[in-house]
Amino acid sequence: MEQLRKAIEDQGVGIGLDVVKVDMFLNHRIDTGLLFAMGEAWAEEFRSEKPDLVLTVEASGIAMAVAAAHALGDIPVVFAKKSAAVTNSGDVVEAPVYSFTHKTQNHIRVDRKYLPEGSRVLIIDDFLADGQAVHGLMSLCEQRKAKVVGVGIAIEKGFQPGGEELRKAGVHLKSLAIVDAIEDGKIRLREED
Ligand code: 5GP
Repeated sequence: MEQLRKAIEDQGVGIGLDVVKVDMFLNHRIDTGLLFAMGEAWAEEFRSEKPDLVLTVEASGIAMAVAAAHALGDIPVVFAKKSAAVTNSGDVVEAPVYSFTHKTQNHIRVDRKYLPEGSRVLIIDDFLADGQAVHGLMSLCEQRKAKVVGVGIAIEKGFQPGGEELRKAGVHLKSLAIVDAIEDGKIRLREED
């Protein structure tokens, strides 16, 4: 997606060999024009899959999931929580997720009633690296017998295995931009097909 590629090129920062920082427009400060254009791009890709809801994980995924869900005709967004709160019903499904950025193991959880059996689910997240977050979300769907009809990612890091593994498994995956490498702080993007 050209608009996202340009934002990454102009405002993204490469940290070390494997971290992409996009706090300027996606992860801390949000460029809302870009955000809603991303929502449209995912909607175009996944409309034919007829999702009933969009599933993501707090916190960075939420804005993107809302943009996609709005573009898909105002379907609901459900976000998995990373900690248990007193307001949770306790009737939840859970999955372990190792966080690439925080280097910690979390459990993500969703109240069963917000992920109905048989629902068609579009997963949206900001980054795809090793695939831990997406696999955790897929596990929640599996436990609820919900069908994952697609996975929409803003930025896939093509030098980590998550994306290739999902494609090989036949998952309908759409990454709006793919980073091939970080070289001296510069982010090298894959050419679009
Ligand atoms: P995965 O679970 O696929 O290994 O990593 C994806 C998750 O880790 C995303 O939800 C994202 O929050 C975080 N993440 C992974 N790599 C990066 C990165 O390079 N930059 C940022 N900002 N977040 C990342």
